[in-house]
Order: sequence, then structure tokens, then C-alpha cells
Amino acid sequence: MSSTQQFIDAAKSGKILSRKCKNCGHHHLATVYFCQNCGNREFEDEFLDGQGSIATYTIITVPPAGFDKYTPYAWVVLKLDNSELRVSGFMAGIAKPADLPMGTKAKIVGFDDRGIIIEKE
Ligand SMILES: [Zn+2]
Repeated sequence: MSSTQQFIDAAKSGKILSRKCKNCGHHHLATVYFCQNCGNREFEDEFLDGQGSIATYTIITVPPAGFDKYTPYAWVVLKLDNSELRVSGFMAGIAKPADLPMGTKAKIVGFDDRGIIIEKE
């Protein structure tokens, strides 16, 4: 199974597949060749809970082709609770900033053609 497919399968069950540095424990989101923290080249896979808080987001009112049916929505950045990782994904039903205060607790609930799907907790 490719690492992309593993990542998607993990997201579908609410998890993030991370690459953890064997030297310093720093987590990375994608396939990396050197640790961004210490430069080490050895990693191990670690599944992280897809729960966190909203760090920032962009409300999409003019969607890309094929996404019209989803508007309004937000492209959000979720800071995971249990690591330094930030994950970006799709959140439905966000039309204005009052709909989604910074720091709102949210979690990963799936993955489809929109990418990672994030919902408020
Ligand atoms: Zn490291």
C-alpha cells in the first residue's frame, strides 16, 4: 500500500499518519527524507488522533470548479492536540467568521474528493 493510501485510510478513521523522527521525536506530515528539527534520516510511522483546535482558516465563497455544491465552506488549519502538526482540510457550513472562532475544538472525520474533512467537536 502506498503511503498516500495509508494516509487517506487513516484520515477516514479520524487519524493522521505521521512520520516520527527516531532521534528527536519530531512529527512530520508527509514523506520526508530529513527531520526538519534535527536532520536525522530515520523515521517510524505513528498514528495521531485527529483532534485539535482551529489555528486559522479561509472562508471560500467563490469555489473552484465542481465545488459549487459545497459553498459556503472553509479551508481550515487544525493544530493537533497531541503533536506540533498542523493539518489543513475542509469544513462545511462556514459562511462568516462568527461561525468559527479561532481555537474552536474540531476533529478529522473523513477523507474524500474534498480532501481531509474536519468538523467541529
Ligand atoms: Zn529529529
